[in-house]
Amino acid sequence: MSDDQNPGRVHGRLLDWRHASVGDPAPCVRCRRPALMRNPDTGRPEHKVCAEAALAPN
Ligand SMILES: [Zn+2]
Repeated sequence: MSDDQNPGRVHGRLLDWRHASVGDPAPCVRCRRPALMRNPDTGRPEHKVCAEAALAPN
């Protein structure tokens, strides 16, 4: 399984969550759907895509 980002593609600001911890499903702080990932900065359950969407200028 390849999880590499396409290096030639710049799409907003991508977060490096490779070191993010994973836990039991908990409501994402942004979309409230179950998320396994924990935001490395806040430690709260959040989808990577949701965090990136929040950073994107639009
Ligand atoms: Zn989410």
